[in-house]
Amino acid sequence: MPDPNGFLRYERQLPKRRPVPLRLMDWKEVYPPAGEELIRDQATRCMDCGIPFCHDGCPLGNRIPDWNDLVRTGNWESAIESLHATNNFPEFTGRLCPAPCEAACVLGIADDPVTIKQVEVEIANHAFARGLVPQPSPVASGKSVAVVGSGPAGLAAAQQLARAGHSVTVYERDDRIGGLMRYGIPDFKIEKDVIDTRLAQMEAEGVVFQAGVNVGVDITADDLRERYDAVLLAAGALAGRDTPETPGRELNGVHLAMEHLVPANRIVAGLQDTTPIDAKGKHVIIIGGGDTGADCLGVAHRQGAASITQLDQYPLPPEARTGIKDPWPTWPLILRNYAAHEEGGDRVFGVAVQEFVGDGNGNLTAIRIAEVQVQRIDGVRTVVITPGSERELRADLVLLAIGFEGTEDQPLLSQFGLNRTRRNVLDADRNWQTDAEGVFVAGDMHKGASLIVWAIAEGRAAASAIHSYLGAAGELPAPVRSDSQPLSV
Ligand SMILES: Cc1cc2nc3c(=O)[nH]c(=O)nc-3n(C[C@H](O)[C@H](O)[C@H](O)COP(=O)(O)OP(=O)(O)OC[C@H]3O[C@@H](n4cnc5c(N)ncnc54)[C@H](O)[C@@H]3O)c2cc1C
Ligand code: SF4
Repeated sequence: MPDPNGFLRYERQLPKRRPVPLRLMDWKEVYPPAGEELIRDQATRCMDCGIPFCHDGCPLGNRIPDWNDLVRTGNWESAIESLHATNNFPEFTGRLCPAPCEAACVLGIADDPVTIKQVEVEIANHAFARGLVPQPSPVASGKSVAVVGSGPAGLAAAQQLARAGHSVTVYERDDRIGGLMRYGIPDFKIEKDVIDTRLAQMEAEGVVFQAGVNVGVDITADDLRERYDAVLLAAGALAGRDTPETPGRELNGVHLAMEHLVPANRIVAGLQDTTPIDAKGKHVIIIGGGDTGADCLGVAHRQGAASITQLDQYPLPPEARTGIKDPWPTWPLILRNYAAHEEGGDRVFGVAVQEFVGDGNGNLTAIRIAEVQVQRIDGVRTVVITPGSERELRADLVLLAIGFEGTEDQPLLSQFGLNRTRRNVLDADRNWQTDAEGVFVAGDMHKGASLIVWAIAEGRAAASAIHSYLGAAGELPAPVRSDSQPLSV
């Protein structure tokens, strides 16, 4: 039984981030591990609220009050078991999830919510440090599954299927396994040995990884159909949104965010096969205020940019939840400050780029922006420019972090006879199965660019559907909220 007064004794507290000057000198994670005492105190703030909403806020349905109480009483072994029952990779979500669970924490109505995500990552760290990560050895089913794509969706499905006794091979186009977590998300958010440790654990439980294999090119859809009883497509939503209509887009110095992040992260990984877009000494403008933009910001700081300005089309959001517009327990539309913002740079809200300005020799020197309002006119999202508000900002490098436009059009789709929807993703209307028999889909490739926690949830749900499709005995657990519905962060 949780301590009902814990929140009266302890305030919400996170471990202190490493000092900015220090962390700008390296690429290591911003947060150091928390001490055990701090985590116990924080778990003790979970207040036995009767009807908890936090696990409903979590797309995985994590049993948060249960493991909070187990940590409070020092029962780490059971906490590890309870957490892994619903989440394959708490070491990923504990570092990277925006924690919609905390927005739904009952304590958050009148106080600061419990540091659920921090407790989660510490349970995961304990599991690896003490060799307590679940490692089942199931009876072989005689069935085989190919997974295309090694992001969190593909990995979660692969682990679930392997644990059900199926023989699983994960194919990945990149030279290393991990999806966007490998070369998309910088090390200061997740150091790559965290992924490698998990991959070693998965290999030990029988998952086979084949990196450097582009399905549809190096191996065909027919090859997969011949070799496997079912296929899961989890190839992400990596088609970057561009702004081709903006004058000057072709100038040297205007790039998509991923053209900046991927080479930078490959260099950090010790690979020398790429030329980074180096921000050193440059005046950098990042267009887009989300996760990707914040990652470009942190990378540009570490590369030694002269100045960095991040632009957002939307007005400055409020710092705290407003009751009517953003009532508890919904995910609030408030100002999100990432660790990279603490490291420097300016943010400008309510503006949009009108032109990339060149020096006459094809090189970027500035951008022209205008103040705007984003409105719905006749149901259509419209950007309305404020007359006379245009101005120029100096720029040597512009990074477009304005989102993704679904999954790429690539040969594997036509080989499987699959068409993308209007949102450029794949439908999974037949219980996670696409229009192609025995071919399933999960993660961003189905949901559109989203979050790691959703990718894991979808991977688990698709694995459960594949298990039934294969006619295997018993059921595989799937998250309650596999509907991909109300909460989209
Ligand atoms: C810069 C950035 C930062 C982000 N930060 C966060 C964050 O902090 N927190 C968070 O929750 N989410 C974050 N996200 C979103 C998150 O990374 C994704 O939602 C998640 O990785 C999706 O998982 P997935 O498994 O569906 O696909 P992905 O992780 O995209 O993996 C798909 C994989 O499929 C591979 N593939 C594609 N085609 C083929 C093929 N033909 N053959 C073989 N392999 C193929 C790709 O190479 C890729 O590795 C971020 C996204 C970006 C871009
Ligand atoms: S996965 Fe995300 S939403 Fe779920 S408990 Fe962890 S931090 Fe919260």
